[in-house]
Amino acid sequence: MRHVDLDRAGAALPEGWETRAAAALAEVATAPPDKRSAAINKYRTVWRELAPVLSQLSHSKCWYCEARENRSDKAIDHFRPKAKPVEADDTHPGYWWRAFDWKNFRYSCTFCNSRRVNVEDGTGGGKHDHFPLLIEDARAFDESGIDGENPTLLDPIKPGDTTLLYFNEEGRVESRISKTIHAIHWLRANTSIELYHLNHKEIVEDRISLFNSIKSLVGLGKICFDNWQAGNAAAEASYNFVVGRLTALLQEQAEFSTAARDMVRGFRDDRHPWIDGIL
Ligand SMILES: [Zn+2]
Repeated sequence: MRHVDLDRAGAALPEGWETRAAAALAEVATAPPDKRSAAINKYRTVWRELAPVLSQLSHSKCWYCEARENRSDKAIDHFRPKAKPVEADDTHPGYWWRAFDWKNFRYSCTFCNSRRVNVEDGTGGGKHDHFPLLIEDARAFDESGIDGENPTLLDPIKPGDTTLLYFNEEGRVESRISKTIHAIHWLRANTSIELYHLNHKEIVEDRISLFNSIKSLVGLGKICFDNWQAGNAAAEASYNFVVGRLTALLQEQAEFSTAARDMVRGFRDDRHPWIDGIL
C-alpha cells in the first residue's frame, strides 16, 4: 500500500460529473429504504466514470495492494460501503449518502474489493461490504457522525496508515508494529491484511519473484561496486545499470514498490554500503 493523493482527483473530475452525482444522490435520498440499494445501483455509471481519473493517481495500480493486474476488472471500492456494513447492526442503512462522493472512492483490484475464498489453501479475503470500526458504538448514521468514527481498515489516502505494513522476504505482508507495544496499530494492520486479501497466494508469489530479482541485483551490485573501486571501467558501467534497475523498482509507478523498498532495505549492512544511497 502506497500513499495516494486523492485530492488530485478533485481537479480532474470530468465536465459535469458533480452535477450528475448530485442528481443521482438526490434521487437516492428520496427513495424508500427498501428501494435505496436499487436506486444507487441504477447510477453505477456515475462512479465508474471516475475509474480513469483514479487509476491515473496510482499509475494503474490497485490502491490497496499495488498490483497492476491486467486481467482484473478494476473496480471502484466505496471505502465506506454504500450498503449495510457487515459489522454494523441491522438498523444501519449503509453509507448511502456517500455513494456518489468521490472522496469515498478507492481504486481497487477485484482481489482486494470482492469477497472470495482461495480454493487452494482455504484462506479468505476481500473487503466487500466490510467496514469495521475500533469502537462500533461510534458508527455514524449520517454525515454529522463521520468524524467520530475510527475505521479499523488502513486507508491508502492517509500517509500515516501506509507506514504500518511491512513486507518480508517470504513475499508476505505483516504488521510493522509489535502487538505488545501498539496493539491498536497491530490490529489495524492485521485486519487490513485479511480484508484486503493482501497475502493471497498469487500476490505472494509475485512478491517472492520480486525479492529474487532484488537479491540477484544486489549480489551483482556488490561485485561491480567492489571491482569499480579497483579501477575496472566495465564494472562501473555494470554498477550504474544495477543502481538504475533497483531505483526503478522503488519508484512510485513500479508495481509493489513499497514491498521492494522493504526488501532492498533488508540488504543494508557493511557488505553493501551503497544500498543506503538508493533508498
Ligand atoms: Zn488489490
